[in-house]
Amino acid sequence: MLTSMGGKSVIVTGGSKGIGKGIARVFARNGAKVAVVSRTLAEAEASAAELSREEGVVKGFTGDVAKLDDMQRLATEVNAAHGGIDVLCANAGVFPQAKIEDLSPEEWDQIMATNLKGTFIAIKACLPYLKSSGQGRIVITSSITGPVTGFPGWSHYGATKAGQLGFMRTACIELAKYGITVNAVLPGNIMTEGLIALGEDYCNSMAASVPLKKLGTVEDIGYAALFFASKEAAYITGQTIIVDGGQILPESLDALTQA
Ligand code: NAP
Repeated sequence: MLTSMGGKSVIVTGGSKGIGKGIARVFARNGAKVAVVSRTLAEAEASAAELSREEGVVKGFTGDVAKLDDMQRLATEVNAAHGGIDVLCANAGVFPQAKIEDLSPEEWDQIMATNLKGTFIAIKACLPYLKSSGQGRIVITSSITGPVTGFPGWSHYGATKAGQLGFMRTACIELAKYGITVNAVLPGNIMTEGLIALGEDYCNSMAASVPLKKLGTVEDIGYAALFFASKEAAYITGQTIIVDGGQILPESLDALTQA
């Protein structure tokens, strides 16, 4: 059993729905004080109200991860409300699809701003408080798409998700002297509002390509994040964990059907 997260202050960017809400739920279930962050206060507060049925304290905050001013204000507010910041789950992300022939430089810049620059900005803004924690933890939500796999329409998305890992591998060295660890969870296909929006055909074909024959749940990602944030994971930094039901492993369709 992991040491309790009771009393720890945790920020989850993109906590209004999807994987972020699942991560927030798992931390709240384990007694943490959780700040869920969305660009819209009403969305953040609705998520916080639902998650308040769990053990911990959950509060909604606003902020755009692409804007340093927003993230610095957020960090100040969470520090005041929850007495510090121990864990940052840099999870907010978008995944609009566009093939390279149709992808504009502006669309490229937008996804970079949220997914990659947003990861850096959220971390930079929370750093003064994570340094004071004594058990600072950063958990990045990356993806299998980019670091391991590819999918048509997601060249820009895959670049951001692989870029997060490149950023992490230096960040963990720079922040080690403060006792802060930086790790990343790489989800496969997880049932979220964002994924459902890609359509039933997409979700069904993805589930069929997973050895465990189903899509993941948001809590599957939450528990991986909880482990990286735990006291017991203190000696793990700069590492990744894939949570994908085995999706990246089959060498061919036959490898799935002959099993
Ligand atoms: P989702 O259901 O669409 O939720 C996205 C979350 O990110 C929302 O809470 C949204 O909040 C927030 N967000 C988006 N842009 C933001 C910004 N600029 N500033 C602050 N918050 C912002 O997506 P999801 O599927 O849960 O994905 C969450 C993360 O997991 C992403 O990093 C994604 O790349 C990664 N991931 C997802 C899957 C999957 O299968 N679902 C697989 C691999 C990786 P508001 O819209 O309320 O502001």
